[in-house]
Amino acid sequence: MTACKTVLASIIAARFRNHIKKTISDLNIKPTLVGFLANNDPAAKKYAEWTAKSCSETGVNFNLIKVDKDELEKSIVEANSDKSINGIMVYYPIFGNHLDLYLQNRVSPLKDVEGLGNMAVRNVYQNKRFMDDGNSMKSIIPCTPLAIIKILEFIDQYKTDLPYGTRLKDKTITIINRSEIVGKPLAALLANEGATVYSVDQSNVQTFTEMNLNKNCKILDTDLKCIHVVPRSDIVITGVPTPNYRVPTKLLKPGVVCINFSTFANFDPDVTSKASNFVPSVGKVTVAMLERNLLRLYNYQQQKDIR
Ligand code: NAD
Repeated sequence: MTACKTVLASIIAARFRNHIKKTISDLNIKPTLVGFLANNDPAAKKYAEWTAKSCSETGVNFNLIKVDKDELEKSIVEANSDKSINGIMVYYPIFGNHLDLYLQNRVSPLKDVEGLGNMAVRNVYQNKRFMDDGNSMKSIIPCTPLAIIKILEFIDQYKTDLPYGTRLKDKTITIINRSEIVGKPLAALLANEGATVYSVDQSNVQTFTEMNLNKNCKILDTDLKCIHVVPRSDIVITGVPTPNYRVPTKLLKPGVVCINFSTFANFDPDVTSKASNFVPSVGKVTVAMLERNLLRLYNYQQQKDIR
């Protein structure tokens, strides 16, 4: 087996950031992104710092606004109608319950850079690739799932020379995380490209099956366990938010691609003895995708002259 490549998110992000920077400079524009921080989560603070740093380098005007969680909805509604703001993001969790979902849906779909609102999420589950009936505005894809697709593209697993719907054909993928914001939409996106996807969480393993256009995604419960699906997987993606969780290296198939998006290491250091490619973190690519989504929405706002 050839040696494992450890692929750094910063290398992949740099390609996108250079392109974003050039586009902003060539068009002489100043897209504005507002980030609402209404919690004390250190991970959110770190994410906000990366976003500020990346935006200042690419030419995006980023305003981080600290707001009381009880004032957040009002701030979002005001930002929706403020024509000087092109994108809105919120650092979750805020309330840690159904209210967070409610807030995600208060952001206008034309400013939803994170792709967490109903329209973006529904389009992922229904394999709907455009936001409008005229197919002029491509759907906004949630940032971290999109980042993981771009990482798979970088390491030549996601084949852009194949037609849509077949770009991950014949791949078996395990995702250990089924959160509404990352693991679940990611499972749907990868299944929509022809992969067999096993979605693992604490309660069970589900399979996500390829969907037909405009139909809801097919999700089935199985009797399988993580130890059954990891050894058959070509790609294993982890997002378990606890410090002690590890995927046992001995379960991994030789040559597997391993991607960790959790803030904690979910693979042991000896993962490189089995993997062909190992991506220890994805955060910097997520921020690049946030800016990419912002530019796309900025364009839509100019075309449609609606906000
Ligand atoms: P979450 O708490 O909403 O979801 C965690 C998921 O992991 C759930 O589906 C849960 O059932 C599953 N899980 C927990 N323990 C498990 C176990 N032992 N076995 C199997 N499944 C288990 O968290 P989240 O918002 O999805 O974030 C997860 C991690 O990813 C966090 O560390 C977060 O900081 C990180 N994150 C990173 C990015 C990025 O771009 N880098 C983006 C979002 C989240």
